[in-house]
Amino acid sequence: MHQTLEAIHQRVLDRNPGETEFHQAVHEVLESIGPAVDKHPEYAQARIVERICEPERQIIFRVPWEDDNGDIHINRGFRVEFNSALGPFKGGLRFHPSVMLGTVKFLGFEQVFKNALTGLPIGGGKGGSDFDPRGRSDREVMRFCQSFMTELYRHIGEYTDVPAGDMGVGSRELGFLFGQYKRITNRYESGVLTGKGLVYGGAQVRREATGYGCTYFVERVLRTRGDGFEGKDVVVSGSGNVALYTVEKVHQLGGRVVAVSDSSGVVHDPEGVDLELLKEIKEVRRERLDVYAEKIGHAEYAADRSIWDIPCQVALPSATQNELDADGAAALARNGCLVVGEGANMPTTPEAARVLHEGGVIFAPGKAANAGGVAASALEMQQNASRDSWSFEHSENRLREIMIDLHDRCHATAEEYGRPGDYVAGANIAGYSRVAEAMLALGLV
Ligand code: NDP
Repeated sequence: MHQTLEAIHQRVLDRNPGETEFHQAVHEVLESIGPAVDKHPEYAQARIVERICEPERQIIFRVPWEDDNGDIHINRGFRVEFNSALGPFKGGLRFHPSVMLGTVKFLGFEQVFKNALTGLPIGGGKGGSDFDPRGRSDREVMRFCQSFMTELYRHIGEYTDVPAGDMGVGSRELGFLFGQYKRITNRYESGVLTGKGLVYGGAQVRREATGYGCTYFVERVLRTRGDGFEGKDVVVSGSGNVALYTVEKVHQLGGRVVAVSDSSGVVHDPEGVDLELLKEIKEVRRERLDVYAEKIGHAEYAADRSIWDIPCQVALPSATQNELDADGAAALARNGCLVVGEGANMPTTPEAARVLHEGGVIFAPGKAANAGGVAASALEMQQNASRDSWSFEHSENRLREIMIDLHDRCHATAEEYGRPGDYVAGANIAGYSRVAEAMLALGLV
């Protein structure tokens, strides 16, 4: 690591003890922006990197709520407003029992660079709670969301901070959150949240955007090498929002998804995953994945197998952070995988990324490959501001253009800085440069 950045990195570790995922995300960025720091000494003088590593604001609050039996629960809510140099803070809310401040800071930090890469006017932030919506009734989820928003509403707004969904926060949760915001503020402020339902201000293609966008990005990676998805076997981890629409787009582009997973196990379907059945199980009935194998005779379900052992030419980790470890990466490389594209945020451990690099596997990091979700959110904000709504086809075309531009910007930046084909360096340097330029222009604020 560059000497100046090494010192900054050490200070981040000292000032944020125990936040290991945040440390990992900062390390990955600082490790690759050295050439940009050398090229722009004026940024170092203005202490841009130190400022980028410190959130503008961190909010932690109590979320009390009552379950269907009348028992009272206390969860913790978070919103980390990381950087607003390019626009209002923008980033999702995650409801998952593993959520703590370090998780939200890692996600918010990633979001700053990701949002910058889209070329759209959005800053970076993230939020969430250690609440687990799995197994809760709709009424319990509603009561939790109402309590969460009763505190969050004072910190957000269409020109301030615009949350969206993430793990555990889908259309049901966003509907309850928006309803409570509207009730408390007495304002129909559509642009305060994105990922909304189509009937109350949502946008076409937002639901599909992260999965579609990741697939478009990886398609562009393949096309750059004169290849495509046609005839390729693909493995997609997870079976939530990102994974489902990744499967859909891979199939539309001629690939075949042969495995998906959830937190309880892995399904291997060598004939290609039946997407309609998968959606019915995960989106409608909210069931576990073993039900898939009960319905499809030739598919195998295993609770304790690694999805990365299943041979494929493209792997798209789309579940959660650090799910692809060094052993998984070694198996992918051994089985002839050509590209790993991150649909999830930071699903690949640093060791796994090294193994992929040594094995000649192209690696597309999440802050570039999964930026389609936030890009579609920015399009939703545009439509809300102009009280307009675009067709599915128009929205999808815009998303595809954004992902192609984003790919090409990462690719060109990597070449410009002497790291051809290194999408990690390309994404980090391009994202950093845009944020740094705006921060310099805005003065010491
Ligand atoms: P969902 O909650 O819709 O789905 C998450 C999926 O991952 C579920 O199938 C879940 O299984 C599975 N999962 C969770 N933990 C594990 C694990 N340890 N092993 C295997 N599977 C696991 O979330 P999203 O699809 O929205 O998000 C997935 C990832 O993509 C996250 O990293 C998120 O930050 C990122 N992302 C999401 C965006 C979006 O627009 N939604 C935008 C950009 C990034 P189970 O049902 O059993 O819990």
